[in-house]
Amino acid sequence: MKKINIAIDGPAGAGKSTIARALAKDRNMVYVDTGAMYRAIGLYCSRKGMDGTDAAAVEKELDNIEVSLAYENGEQVVYLNGENVNGFIRTPEAGVMASAVSVHTAVRTKLVELQKALAEKTSVVMDGRDIGTVVLPNAEVKIYLTASSAVRAKRRYDELTAKGMECDLAQLQKEIEERDYRDMTREVSPLKKAEDAVELDTSSLSIEEVVEAMQRIVAEKTGE
Ligand code: C5P
Repeated sequence: MKKINIAIDGPAGAGKSTIARALAKDRNMVYVDTGAMYRAIGLYCSRKGMDGTDAAAVEKELDNIEVSLAYENGEQVVYLNGENVNGFIRTPEAGVMASAVSVHTAVRTKLVELQKALAEKTSVVMDGRDIGTVVLPNAEVKIYLTASSAVRAKRRYDELTAKGMECDLAQLQKEIEERDYRDMTREVSPLKKAEDAVELDTSSLSIEEVVEAMQRIVAEKTGE
C-alpha cells in the first residue's frame, strides 16, 4: 500500500479520537493524537503553577519541555520529559489548560514540527484542530468531524462517568462551548474546516456508522 496521510479535524468531543483510532487500526496506519501533545504542555504548566494564558511565561519554559510519542501495545503514549503522562492528561481541567497554552505561536511551532516529522516517516491518521489546514496541507484525505455541543457534552459525560469521575453535564457543555469559541477565534491556526475537507456531522450516527462513512471517503479519495 502506498503511503497516505489522513487528517481529521473538528471541535472537542466530535468523536475524532475514537474514530481516528478505529480507522488507523483498520488500515494498519499509525494514529497520532495531537491534542495529547498540547495537553502534555498544559500539564507541565499547571504542575508549575503557571498561568497558561501568559505567553511570555509559557514561551520561556518551552526549552525545558520535551514532548514525545511512543507506541506501546498499540496505544499512543505521551512522554513529558521522559515521564508517561497518559494517566494525567485526560481530565476536563487538562483540556482547558491545553486550550489555553495552544494559542501561543511558540507552542504551536514546536508541536507542529514534531507532527510533520511523524507524518513524513509513515502513514498516519492524525487528529487535531489544524491538521488539514496547517500540519498536513497535502494530506490525501481530510475530514472535518462535527456534532452539536449538546451531543458532544453528553458523550464526554458518559466517558468520564464510566471512568468513575464525577461531573456535571451542563458544566461540561459550557466548557465545550467556551473551548470551541477559543479554538475557533484564536489568531494562530484557528479551528476551521480546510477547503478541501469532507464535513461529517456525527450527531445522530453511531461509531460504526461514522467509521463506515469515513472508510467510504478514504476509498473514494485514494482508490484503496
Ligand atoms: O483534542 P483535545 O481535546 O485533546 O485537544 C485539547 C486542546 O488542544 C484543544 O482544545 C485545542 O485547544 C488544542 N489543540 C490544538 N491543535 C491541535 C490539537 C489540539 O490547538 N492540533
